[in-house]
Amino acid sequence: MTHPLHDPPLSESDPVIASLIRSEDERQRDKLRMIPSENYASRAVQEACGSSLNNKYSEGYPRKRYYEGQQFIDPIEEAARDRIKALFGVEHANVQPYSGSPANLAVYFAFCKPGDTVMGLGLPHGGHLTHGWSVSITGSYFKSVAYSVRRDDHRIDMEEVARLAQQHRPRLLFCGGTAYPRSWDFAAFAAIAKDVGAILVADIAHISGLVVGGAHPSPVGHADIITSTTHKTLRGPRGGMILCGAAHAAAIDKAVFPGLQGGPHEGNIAGIAVAAKEAATEGFRAYAHQVVANAKALAAAMTDRGYSLVSGGTDNHLLLVDLTAQNISGKKAAKALDLAGIELNYNSVPYDPRKPFDPSGVRLGTPALTSRGLDEKHMEMVAGWFDRAVKGAEDESALAAVAAEVKRLLADYPAPGLLT
Ligand SMILES: *Cc1c(COP(=O)(O)O)cnc(C)c1O
Repeated sequence: MTHPLHDPPLSESDPVIASLIRSEDERQRDKLRMIPSENYASRAVQEACGSSLNNKYSEGYPRKRYYEGQQFIDPIEEAARDRIKALFGVEHANVQPYSGSPANLAVYFAFCKPGDTVMGLGLPHGGHLTHGWSVSITGSYFKSVAYSVRRDDHRIDMEEVARLAQQHRPRLLFCGGTAYPRSWDFAAFAAIAKDVGAILVADIAHISGLVVGGAHPSPVGHADIITSTTHKTLRGPRGGMILCGAAHAAAIDKAVFPGLQGGPHEGNIAGIAVAAKEAATEGFRAYAHQVVANAKALAAAMTDRGYSLVSGGTDNHLLLVDLTAQNISGKKAAKALDLAGIELNYNSVPYDPRKPFDPSGVRLGTPALTSRGLDEKHMEMVAGWFDRAVKGAEDESALAAVAAEVKRLLADYPAPGLLT
């Protein structure tokens, strides 16, 4: 048997996994990472996550735990909660959800019985699976009603939201999405929710960094419950959180634990605390505004090159490009772009005549590029590379040439948090 104190580094103990992680570091270093839900967490965040906290069980909440040895865990979770509360300006924060989907599921568990009606933006129109879409547990245990975006301008049809809410009287009304390039009118949703007695849930998973940076209106004061991931524009570790007023605090906490989860991942909670401190700085405010400025610059540069953008542009960090006029499917374009060093995802566009596994569009965003310090002038270059890759989708050497140019630019803009 190996001596228990034999504790070699990963590179020695498991060179296969070590080398794959190194390769992933290099891939993230050398590519334009434009999947709008992704980012680079800082080295400080990564360090907090990969620590002795990984070894600890702490079921319960600070000062009300079921295990001993919480002397240092409690202040960590309290710091995470207090910093998040201060950052968003809310009375209560639960930072234990393992990710965004469990955060939403906890909200259902707190307020709904199976079979209750819920409402959210339909998945094909930019909503999230967990807002009641049919293949999700939320669409099979609950009766769900989807609202949509308008055919002509791709904006949420608030009249339809009001009409459906009156007709179906949902228990939960979700606003927020994964592929909606425009601002959310939280006040208008709140008025509708109030009218029909629904609980308004603002899921700001994508935009929470923009919200705290002042680059998107805040749902605080409008939504009863706010859910979010912590790893998207907020630039923290993987995780989820639920924010609310004091009136809902007990119901939310009970739904997360013991309702849905067991022991919280305190390493990630420490990472959330670190990310919340980073997000409270002037530098982060500037970051959030630059994310949006970059997305708008990219939208303009893409439009100049003849690309059709869903809703005609963007108010936030993401763009949806409809490639119908370019005569290439979203999937084919995404694969070519990846070879060209531009990583994004294929995506349905509203009223897409094509199937979801090979839709008409691609979705891309600026959070990760902005974390490396790229600005408006680079967005012009990105649009040029995008165009060359789409036009040269069949030409491997053209794609490789773009990838080399991308890599050369990025060498001057190191990414936060990578080991390489
Ligand atoms: C990403 C996202 C989620 C889910 O987060 P996971 O961490 O992937 O579970 C939920 N809601 C919205 C709007 C999202 O964008």
